[in-house]
Amino acid sequence: MRHRIAVIGGGPAGLTFARVLHRHDHPVTVLERDPGPDARPPGGMLDLHEGLGQLALSKAGLLAEFQALSRPEGQAMRILDTDGTVLRDWQPRPDDLANPEIDRGQLRDLLLGSLDVQWGRGVTEVVPGTRDGVLVHFADGRQETFDLVVGADGAWSRVRPAVSSATPHYTGITSVETSLDDVDTRHPDLARLVGDGSMAVYGVNRSLVAQRNSGGHVKVYARFRAPLDWHTNVDRHMGLDAGLDLADVEAVRSRLLAMFDGWAAPVLDLLRHGTAFVHRPLYVLPVSHTWAHVPGVTLLGDAAHLMPPLGAGANLAMLEGAELAESVVAAPGPGDLDEAVRAFEEQMWARAGKWAKITTAGLERLVSPDPTEAIARWDQVQPS
Ligand SMILES: Cc1cc2nc3c(=O)[nH]c(=O)nc-3n(C[C@H](O)[C@H](O)[C@H](O)COP(=O)(O)OP(=O)(O)OC[C@H]3O[C@@H](n4cnc5c(N)ncnc54)[C@H](O)[C@@H]3O)c2cc1C
Repeated sequence: MRHRIAVIGGGPAGLTFARVLHRHDHPVTVLERDPGPDARPPGGMLDLHEGLGQLALSKAGLLAEFQALSRPEGQAMRILDTDGTVLRDWQPRPDDLANPEIDRGQLRDLLLGSLDVQWGRGVTEVVPGTRDGVLVHFADGRQETFDLVVGADGAWSRVRPAVSSATPHYTGITSVETSLDDVDTRHPDLARLVGDGSMAVYGVNRSLVAQRNSGGHVKVYARFRAPLDWHTNVDRHMGLDAGLDLADVEAVRSRLLAMFDGWAAPVLDLLRHGTAFVHRPLYVLPVSHTWAHVPGVTLLGDAAHLMPPLGAGANLAMLEGAELAESVVAAPGPGDLDEAVRAFEEQMWARAGKWAKITTAGLERLVSPDPTEAIARWDQVQPS
C-alpha cells in the first residue's frame, strides 16, 4: 500500500526525506514556500559529519557525489588573539573525511536532483484527524489531504502547532553576517588570514568568525551578547548610541567596528570590506523538545529541535529525513505507518536532545565573558 505523504519544506531535512523515499520508489509530495530553488541566497557552508549528514547521503545514494563536491581542506581552523597573534592553527590531514564542508547551494542541488518539488506552495496550517486524513491549508487558499504530513519547514514551522505549543526563544546572542567576494584576487591578505577553512577571534562576550566558501567567497559572522532590541534601544550594554538602521550598510559597519574597537587591523578589515550585513538573532527551541504523538503529523530538523548553529542542525535534519523515509518504506499498512513514526520520534528526540545540550553549552563558551573558554572548547573538540 502506498501512503499519501507530503513533506513541507525543501531544506536539508525535507529534501533528504524525499530523496530517500524516491530512491525506494515511494511517491512523496514536496511543498516548498520559496517560488524557486534560487529565490534566496543559499547561505554559507555546512560541515557534514561522517556518522550524521554523510550517513544520510549514503542512504540517499549520494555519498560519492558529495565527496567529489565537498572540501575536506575546509576543516582547517585557526584561532587568533584580538591583537592578531595566532593561538591555534589546526590543519586537517589530506585523508581526513570526518567533517568536510560543502556549499549549501551545492548540497541543495545534489539533493534536488530529479525530485519534483512544488515551488511557491507556502503552508499556513495543518489540521490532523479529519475524515480524509491530515488537512493542509495553503497561503493561496487551496487545501489538500494526506496520510502523513512531515513538517520540515524550519525554525518558524507552520506545521509545529499541530503537535506542540513550543516556540523558539532568543538565546541572548546575535549574529551579524557579512561576506567578501573574490578574496584571492581582491583581498589576498584576508584570503591568507582566513586560510582554507575558518578563522576565529574571541573577545569578551563577542567573537568574529570568517569562513572560506567555494569560489573565493568568504562569510564573516560577528556574534555578541546583546538584548534583542540592541539596535533600537539605547545600547547601554555596548555603551553606544541608539537608533541603528539595520538596512543602512555603512551605519551597521561603523557600529560593528565600534563594537570590535581595538582588535587587530587585518581582523577588522573583514568588516571594512564586507558587502552587506544580515542581522540574525540566534533563537532556539527548548533543549528537550518533545510532544505527545499526533497520528499523521511529525516534524524533522529545525522545526523539531532548533539549536545554536554549531555544526549539528543540518546533519541531524538530514539523518532524520533519511531515517524517517526508511521507516515509512518499511511500514506496509496504516497502523504500521503510525507505529513507525512513533518509534522514529523517540529516536529523534533522544539524539537531538543530546546535541541540543552540546550546542547550547558550546554557544555559551564561544560567546563568553571569558574568551579563554572559547579556546578551551576548541581544544576539546579539535582532533589533536
Ligand atoms: C550561520 C549558520 C551556520 C550553520 N552551519 C551549520 C553547519 O556547519 N552544519 C550543520 O549541520 N548545521 C549548520 N547550521 C544549521 C542548519 O542550517 C539548520 O539546522 C538546517 O538548515 C535545518 O534544516 P531544515 O531542513 O530543518 O530547515 P531549513 O533549512 O530552515 O529549511 C526549511 C525549508 O522550509 C521552507 N518553509 C518554511 N516555511 C514554510 C511554509 N510555511 N510552507 C512551505 N515551506 C516552508 C523554507 O523556505 C526552507 O526551504 C547553520 C545555521 C546557521 C544559521
